[in-house]
Amino acid sequence: MIAYIGIGANLGDARANVVDAFVRLAALPATCVLARSSLWRTAPIDSSGDDYINAVASIDTQLAPLELLDAVRAIELAHGRERPYRNAPRTLDLDILLYDDLQLDTDVLTVPHPRMHQRAFVLAPLCEIAPALRIPGVGLAAALLPALAEQAIARLDGAAPA
Ligand code: ATP
Ligand code: CA
Ligand code: CA
Repeated sequence: MIAYIGIGANLGDARANVVDAFVRLAALPATCVLARSSLWRTAPIDSSGDDYINAVASIDTQLAPLELLDAVRAIELAHGRERPYRNAPRTLDLDILLYDDLQLDTDVLTVPHPRMHQRAFVLAPLCEIAPALRIPGVGLAAALLPALAEQAIARLDGAAPA
């Protein structure tokens, strides 16, 4: 299955945390990283603290959706992720954006990620690595970006180091 993981951080060394998330995704069982976006910088939206560093990775995985959710939670915990309140600053956040063409809505996992289509910091890196991607139930990801032009987001120079 091909899945897309949205990565964000704005606590600690946010840039290093996001780069480490790529490394840890590649080390998951039965999983390989197909592509990584550039790192993007975003002002907090509905949140506080420092600017965010965001990125997206595409992975090829044999993990089932809930196994993948457990795996990305473990990566967050390895970075000391705490959830003191909603949208709190975080050392590392990994969201399952898409899992193949699955559409799922349960208490613990909703796929496609229900807020991804409103977020330039998700869609810009996503479209960088998958320009023709369709979001099941929504449509072409790239077509959503122009409406989000007021969300300030900047691509950092150079791709993430290998
Ligand atoms: P947002 O979901 O708006 O980006 P957030 O990432 O800050 O907010 P979290 O505190 O990281 O929210 O996650 C809250 C819960 O969301 C998790 O416990 C998880 O079970 C659930 N969840 C539902 N769908 C997903 C998904 N597609 N990817 C990751 N977590 C999800
Ligand atoms: Ca998130
Ligand atoms: Ca999350």
